[in-house]
Amino acid sequence: MEKLRLFPPLKQVLEFNSYESEVDVLFKFDRAINKGNMFGDSIEFYKQIGLQNGHNGIDISCNVGAEVLASHPGWIRESYMDSTGGLGVVIVSFDPYIWKDGSEAHAKTIYWHNSKNLVKVGNKVKVGQKIALAGSTGFSTGPHLHHGGKQCDKNGNTLNWGNGHLGAVDIYDYYKFWDLHPILENLMLDTDEKIKLVYQAVLKRDPDAEGAAFWKGKSVWDFLKAASSGSENTKLKMIWSWGKYFLGTFGK
Ligand SMILES: [Zn+2]
Repeated sequence: MEKLRLFPPLKQVLEFNSYESEVDVLFKFDRAINKGNMFGDSIEFYKQIGLQNGHNGIDISCNVGAEVLASHPGWIRESYMDSTGGLGVVIVSFDPYIWKDGSEAHAKTIYWHNSKNLVKVGNKVKVGQKIALAGSTGFSTGPHLHHGGKQCDKNGNTLNWGNGHLGAVDIYDYYKFWDLHPILENLMLDTDEKIKLVYQAVLKRDPDAEGAAFWKGKSVWDFLKAASSGSENTKLKMIWSWGKYFLGTFGK
């Protein structure tokens, strides 16, 4: 079973910087742009909506219409409108993960205040897939994404409901696990289709028989390292941007 890793939930975050680890990007993005609440902030304010221990997610300021992305692979459990969350999407992970406290549980992630939801209940989504457009619907004072996470069972029922945050945990910590390198090392070119895709995308041609045989079973990391050229900085940028693209394309 894998440790839970979350992918930045806004395309703006990914575009904010080019090749540093995703969590560095998220922190930088936050410092520069986020004027919203972090987990546990503003206890008195959030008592108005029944949260005893303050804000139960992270708020990331963004533009109306900013692309909201799935933080992990999963299925859509809710795509709804209510007075608090506004237009919201809830994703439940296909697989259970190992959490920081050592427990094993499925992950349920929450994306609130959208201007438009692009998925329906029951849809399957890949990590990084566009699921909504951000907005300011519901209990919101300006355009932002409220992003939260809870441990749940395989059906998406919240565990630890009585933790004072309605079961939510501080998911910011799960971005700290994020590092593209080990993930790309485990993303294998195990089919001819994948080899063809990386060739066409990066090298702008189909693989010859020798190339196809050579890369079969090797990792996307190895391929991108071999395919990139130029200064170290240029190579890293290229590996980073293609890596994210293939991760989204090859994910579940
Ligand atoms: Zn919020």
